[in-house]
Amino acid sequence: MDVFAILDHVKMYLRGEGRFKIGFVGNGEPFLDWPKLKSFIAYLEDDPHISTYTITNGTILLPESELLFLENHRVNVGFSIDGPKQLHDLYREHSFDRAMRGVEWNKSVTGHYPTFNATVGKETLATPEPVIDFFEKFGTRITFSRMIGRHGIGLDEYRRFLKLAEKRLDIRRGGNDCTMYGGQCGAGINNFFFANGSVYYCGNCIDCPPIADSGISLFDLEKISLDFDRNRCYKESL
Ligand code: SF4
Repeated sequence: MDVFAILDHVKMYLRGEGRFKIGFVGNGEPFLDWPKLKSFIAYLEDDPHISTYTITNGTILLPESELLFLENHRVNVGFSIDGPKQLHDLYREHSFDRAMRGVEWNKSVTGHYPTFNATVGKETLATPEPVIDFFEKFGTRITFSRMIGRHGIGLDEYRRFLKLAEKRLDIRRGGNDCTMYGGQCGAGINNFFFANGSVYYCGNCIDCPPIADSGISLFDLEKISLDFDRNRCYKESL
């Protein structure tokens, strides 16, 4: 996929106005392909209207100079940590200790703890307080996301967890982007996922038919419309 062409389309679409967020996520651990990722971020540095983020599993320790590159380019680097060790290790290959080394390394270079991305499954719902206790000590923003699929949890019980968590944590509350983060579904309006040379409604729609080729202009992309209850997940309604 020609990522630079996609970034050009974003710049053309913005024409120096508005705000656009690009997440370099969804194809595995992004720091495994650091030189490419760095080149994409550098390509965007002349456009203050575009913000970027990526999400790491924390197990790859980038050198100090590269972490400072991310910091200086205002790239939000979220660390996928699901909570205390026992919980995190359940679904993440016993990687808690390595991931937390990455978190501490990041703090030692940047001077602050990173943000976190935590998946909420049935184990979290069974004992929410230790998870909230765990994240409270870092004092940074948490993006919780609802586990979906075979081990998934329901939207209503997930929203109850968010209500509890936000009493003590700075949590991301999505707007019109995705119910997985507590907001409304942005499929077809705010949320697009480019992968494998195609465009999908979102990362979770990757096993649905693509909606376009990745070379499509964003002006054409926004002509696509979907009509459904945005309090619900479009993918789950299929
Ligand atoms: S289809 Fe579901 S997973 Fe995709 S953006 Fe909408 S709510 Fe999120």
